[in-house]
Amino acid sequence: MSTSLVYGSYILAGLLFILALAGLSKHETSKRGNVLGCIGMGVALLVTVLATLIGYRVGGFTVGGLPAWGVAAVLLPMAAGAGIGIVRALRVEMTGMPELIALFHSFVGLAAVLVGWVSFIEEGHADKLHFGELFVGVFIGAVTFTGSIIAYLKLSAKMKSAPLALPHHNLINLAALVAFVALTVVFVLKHEGPVGWIMLSIMTVIALALGLHLVAAIGGGDMPVVVSMLNSYSGWAAAAAGFTLGNDLLIITGALVGSSGAYLSYIMCKAMNRSFISVIMGGFGSDGAVVGEAKDYGEHREITAPEVAELLKHASSVIITPGYGMAVAQAQTAVAELTTKLHREHGVKVRFGIHPVAGRLPGHMNVLLAEAKVPYDIVLEMDEINDDFADTDVVLVIGANDTVNPAALDDPHSPIAGMPVLHVWEAGQVIIFKRSMATGYAGVQNPLFFKENSAMLFGDAKQRVEDIIRAL
Ligand code: NDP
Repeated sequence: MSTSLVYGSYILAGLLFILALAGLSKHETSKRGNVLGCIGMGVALLVTVLATLIGYRVGGFTVGGLPAWGVAAVLLPMAAGAGIGIVRALRVEMTGMPELIALFHSFVGLAAVLVGWVSFIEEGHADKLHFGELFVGVFIGAVTFTGSIIAYLKLSAKMKSAPLALPHHNLINLAALVAFVALTVVFVLKHEGPVGWIMLSIMTVIALALGLHLVAAIGGGDMPVVVSMLNSYSGWAAAAAGFTLGNDLLIITGALVGSSGAYLSYIMCKAMNRSFISVIMGGFGSDGAVVGEAKDYGEHREITAPEVAELLKHASSVIITPGYGMAVAQAQTAVAELTTKLHREHGVKVRFGIHPVAGRLPGHMNVLLAEAKVPYDIVLEMDEINDDFADTDVVLVIGANDTVNPAALDDPHSPIAGMPVLHVWEAGQVIIFKRSMATGYAGVQNPLFFKENSAMLFGDAKQRVEDIIRAL
């Protein structure tokens, strides 16, 4: 292969990744963004594998090229990995997505550790900068590896999600960071012989332990932010591996993942009114059982599906605010059918109000509604729709709880105080679809359920929506 073909393909793949990110930022273009990303990754994989297997020409020399056993050693694990990946991705439920992503990040971290170690063993005579890059790459990779495994275990409930609160836990993290900096300096200055091996081994163990401790100290409540943060780390680990391997495409891709992951973590923290530092320092978000307050909120009112159908028939404007419960009930198709029916047969103006952290991962609701073919132009962000509730006849809160909790605004002592919420209570009538009076993710009671213009429609959201469609 020629060098220009290899580097030309790298540039093409890098551009496709940038276009993919741009596409993913809007509903209308997200599918195209995804396809562009897939093509980019296809090009990157194909060229990298071919360049490794058959080699490429640089200045009259051939770089790379493998014997037959080497080709098998590359292709067989790739095929096995691709097979496992496809099966897992096909089987995963939307609600299980965060833990699958966490598991995938752990592989990126492990790969970065292995790349660093192999490069150290093979390249005894590279310059100091190279050894610095290698050391940093192994560090970030090892933290990402163990941190992501803990995140996976917590999210999949294979491990208790309560934060591990060791005494002086922030001090432990700080000591690990200081040790890393000191070891880096020694390693860069003296990496030959046993000293190099000892430094790299000690640092790898410290980084693995730091990853474990860092994420174990964070409660289940903050785990999605942590997954997004680990996503960012995995990007930086890949970029560091790119420097170690001298692979420009890996540097570009890693930097894109690293910076977009960091920005996503920031957006999530902002939408939950949490500071990024407080999330990383751990010990704040517990597992949804924070508050057991005995405050008397009064009586709630119940309503039946036919009664809701009657209300909807006579409404002129309706807003649906979905939440995690819509995902659990897989109610999105029924909700889409209800929307069409109300609009076509009863002339009701129906729109959706989406809170930025409704569900369990960013864009969760948008993905479900897109899957159910709800038109994008009636799906509005919280900021776009919040002023319209006062002019709305009926709001259907389908499996949402924290994201519609007025206590976030009214009660400065609430654990979710200050979190921006959808102002559903300003509408004429609010119907809340849920199975019980249980709290939502943050573990706090919701005064909305006890307001005069609120009524509870108990049961599985999908069944209740189907009951309403039948009654209509
Ligand atoms: P919540 O977790 O607050 O509430 C979900 C509601 O759905 C519950 O009240 C539950 O009540 C109900 N429910 C569950 N299953 C069903 C079902 N089958 N049928 C009907 N109702 C059901 O969800 P929200 O979407 O409102 O809020 C998301 C929460 O997740 C926020 O606290 C947010 O901060 C947090 N979070 C979100 C992240 C994101 O990126 N999206 C990231 C990190 C955290 P019941 O059990 O009684 O049925």
